[in-house]
This record gives sequence, structure tokens and C-alpha cells, in this order.
Amino acid sequence: MKGLRVAGLTKSFGGVRAVDDASVTFQHGRINALIGPNGSGKTTFFNCVTGMVKPDAGIVTYHDRDITGRGAHKIAHEGIGRSFQLCRVFPRLTAVENLLAAVRPGSIVRALAPARLKSDVDRALELLTRVGIEHLADVEARDLSYGQQKLLELAGVLMADPETILLDEPAGGVNPALIERIGVLVRELNAEGRTFLIVEHNMDVVMSLSDHVVVFDRGRPIAEGPPDVVRADPLVLAAYLGG
Ligand code: ADP
Repeated sequence: MKGLRVAGLTKSFGGVRAVDDASVTFQHGRINALIGPNGSGKTTFFNCVTGMVKPDAGIVTYHDRDITGRGAHKIAHEGIGRSFQLCRVFPRLTAVENLLAAVRPGSIVRALAPARLKSDVDRALELLTRVGIEHLADVEARDLSYGQQKLLELAGVLMADPETILLDEPAGGVNPALIERIGVLVRELNAEGRTFLIVEHNMDVVMSLSDHVVVFDRGRPIAEGPPDVVRADPLVLAAYLGG
């Protein structure tokens, strides 16, 4: 099966089962949303899938390859990229330098060496244009608005050319105009064949953007389907009301 499949995924922190025997499949080619109340395990799920956290149990497969418990670099190498809830950029590097650092994680010095391949710089500029902040290429990230930093982070994710992209709250803290731009970008990137898995609290964004919604509650999926069906599901309403 093409896509991301998780079976029996479990991760506890002390006595808290953040992800509790979760099984779910995200088909390749879709814009998938992962929603659920605060503390329902969405970020921990992301972290397990992307190798930032080792699950206690369960299996993660990508295009039928077992990637369970692999490190973040290896998972990135499989073609899975991610952004973070609290946007991660290097504040004192310029936008273009941030993108160069994104392709050589772990070595900013090497990333910014004069002998950098011109192709990387060209690609960085091309991606800044793509996300609409090419005019800010030489501005330090700390001087960008939060929304612009999120666009920069997305460009950084795209530097590795991932075919599956996990976004953790792309619309969080972003003004409506930039939310709109992020939505357009996600749709375009999806039309080019990239799969998305998006954790998002903004229900307008979830409903307008996603093909398929998975709802988490207490560490596992309780409902899934097209956005309008999921929205009307009594189990989902109960979960959000704390039932
Ligand atoms: P969500 O992203 O849906 O808000 P999280 O995955 O962040 O949910 O959290 C799920 C549960 O796991 C929460 O009860 C949270 O407090 C707990 N948790 C998450 N990460 C840690 C951690 N590193 N240490 C201890 N508890 C954690």
C-alpha cells in the first residue's frame, strides 16, 4: 500500500499513555488532517512517525517499508518531512541561509561555506519565491513576522524534496492573509503529488483543505472520513465537549 500506516502505536510518558494502541492509515496523495482535543496525542504521534520519539510498541510502515523506531535523519531520507508547532528557524541566519542550513542539518558552518553548491542557493531562492518571500531572502529570520517564519520553515522542509509532509499547526498564530497563502501552497504541492498530514486547530482550515480527517481522542483515532462527515459525528462532538 502506498502511504503511511501505523498499527498498535503506543507511547507513554511516566503514567500517561500519550498514544494508546493507535492504528491508522494515511493514503498516499491525500491532504489528511489529524485533529482532536488538546492532549489527545497528536504531537506525540507525529514525533513517533518522524523518529523524534521512539514508540514503546507498534509498527510504522511507509510504502510498506518498516520505519518503526528509525532516527529522524533516516525517516527524512525516506521522503517524509515535517514542520513544528512552534516554528523552528535559526533567528540570526538570513532566510536564504536558513534554507542552506536545512539541507545540511547539524552543520551550519558547512552549510554556509563559500564552496556551497550554486544549485543549493538557486534552489533556496526558487523556494523562497515559491512561498512568496523572495524579497526577504537576505533578512534575518528574527526580523520576519511569525507567518513569514512559518513560510520560511515550509520552504526549509521543501529543500529536501519530501513526498510526504507533516505540518504541525501551520495556521497557528498566523494572520488570515498568510493562512490563505499557506492553504494555496498546500493545495499546489498536493496537486504535484505530495501527500500531507496536518495537525491543525483552525477548523475552517481543516474543513476547507483536507480530503480526509482522522480524529484523535485519548491517544487513538475515534473517527475518520471526509471532513463534513467527521464534523457531524456524535463521538467527535462528545470528544471536543470533554465527554
Ligand atoms: P496533543 O498534540 O494532541 O495536544 P500531546 O501528544 O502533546 O497531545 O500530548 C499527549 C499527552 O502526553 C498529554 O497528556 C501530554 O501532557 C503528555 N506528554 C506529551 N509529551 C510529553 C513528554 N515529553 N513528557 C511527559 N508527558 C508528555
